[in-house]
Amino acid sequence: MLNIVFDASYYLQSEVLTSYFDFNKLHNFIVSFEKFFQKKEKKVLNLIKKLTGFDWEKEIINVWFFESWNASISYPLLLNVYDYNKDFVFFNLIHELVHINLFDLMIFNKKRKVDLIELEAIVNFITKQVIQSFYNKEKVNKLCKKAEFGGVYKYVWIRTNEINNEFNSLKKPNLKEWMLLNKNKYVIKK
Ligand SMILES: [Zn+2]
Repeated sequence: MLNIVFDASYYLQSEVLTSYFDFNKLHNFIVSFEKFFQKKEKKVLNLIKKLTGFDWEKEIINVWFFESWNASISYPLLLNVYDYNKDFVFFNLIHELVHINLFDLMIFNKKRKVDLIELEAIVNFITKQVIQSFYNKEKVNKLCKKAEFGGVYKYVWIRTNEINNEFNSLKKPNLKEWMLLNKNKYVIKK
């Protein structure tokens, strides 16, 4: 059984990110987010596993919350608190958890280079489906819109919609089965 553990690191904030932060505020947020997430945790983890078709390999995932302008990352899982917006943090936590679940996946473009846009689009495709079982359509669209982050991310969401249509037309039970139809592009490492 996988456990998600939330924490914050004073040293990450002060030595690595070196931007303004309120450590007490960060700690209070962790306490309230834990309560918020507790009731959803099991459903989130089961849904990701079911939708991707990949098992969880880990027993514990540490999530380090931080307050800064830096983007969130999956390895290690460093999560921006985004103005302390709980729903948006939840959205981005799911996004990073999907990255961790898909750790064994490599995606290549036609030039045999790693295709990060395609990977992001696939992660968003799963994230959106998980989010849909917690919020109504209007709220889902708002959260997705907020997650465009400008720049190249616009193309990611366009590709996410294409993947959604391709996936629905091919009627496969999960992402893994769907990707096996295109083994040159989607390479599962083991
Ligand atoms: Zn991502």
